[in-house]
Amino acid sequence: MFEGINATTQFKSSITTALRSGTLSHALILEGKSSHDRLDAAYEIAAAVLCEDEVKPCGICSKCKKVKNKTHPDVHILEKDEKSGIIKVDAIRELKKLAQVLPNDGEKSVFIIVGAELMNTQAQNALLKIFEEPARHLLFILCCGAKSSLLDTIISRATSYSLGEELATEEEDEKLKKAKETATGLALCFASENELEFIRKSAVMRNDKELFRSVLIQLRLIFRDCIILQHGGKELISDSSEAAKKLSVKLTAKKSLEILNIINELYENSLMNSNHNLTLTGFSAKLYSIKTH
Ligand SMILES: [Zn+2]
Repeated sequence: MFEGINATTQFKSSITTALRSGTLSHALILEGKSSHDRLDAAYEIAAAVLCEDEVKPCGICSKCKKVKNKTHPDVHILEKDEKSGIIKVDAIRELKKLAQVLPNDGEKSVFIIVGAELMNTQAQNALLKIFEEPARHLLFILCCGAKSSLLDTIISRATSYSLGEELATEEEDEKLKKAKETATGLALCFASENELEFIRKSAVMRNDKELFRSVLIQLRLIFRDCIILQHGGKELISDSSEAAKKLSVKLTAKKSLEILNIINELYENSLMNSNHNLTLTGFSAKLYSIKTH
């Protein structure tokens, strides 16, 4: 079982044990490795719960084949909305409707949520309601890079499995690099009180909501580091210790915290159906208002 899946032995053995003993939770979180690996693992789990052979998944019965060919009527995939790049509450409402229907071709309906971290808070809360009244025929598999990006309430109602250390594809690596560079540049401008340069550097995020979100995540790490330094801590988590150090000297601890809150708020907004370029225009003004008041 799970032979062809790129995951640690520990993952394979714990998920196999849960499947064989019938103790598999109705909500699973799969984190770590690459997005392809997580999806492969999710399909393998789906095949295991739908397979009719004794050793599940057998890989050769009609159920297993349908899952493998992505034609099984009871395996549903939920992905981000192409336009907004996120998973909105409407998609979860659709999912809820599907979840109320009994499976066609087996005992379970399996819902695989790809990129679960792209659900905004509203969507996650809607999903939570479904988790709270689980019907026996439902299995939810949430795939995400790191479960820390999900609400605590979701994490506490699901069983989490790590496939191993998170891997990024080349494309994801490039994006992350760009986000880190942009965030560091912005943090340094902010520390040196250069608002014009800050605005100029923000322009790269125009029409690119995804980059904006990644930059906010990186900025959050930098400002967390800044606060850690202000409290005498040494263990930094961002890749921009220089920017964090400069900020920690420039800002009071109270202001750093206020800025962190603004970044969190902007991040939350960016997950909503908001006008991205408008949010971006207010971005520097919001941050600099803290600095000067
Ligand atoms: Zn089978």
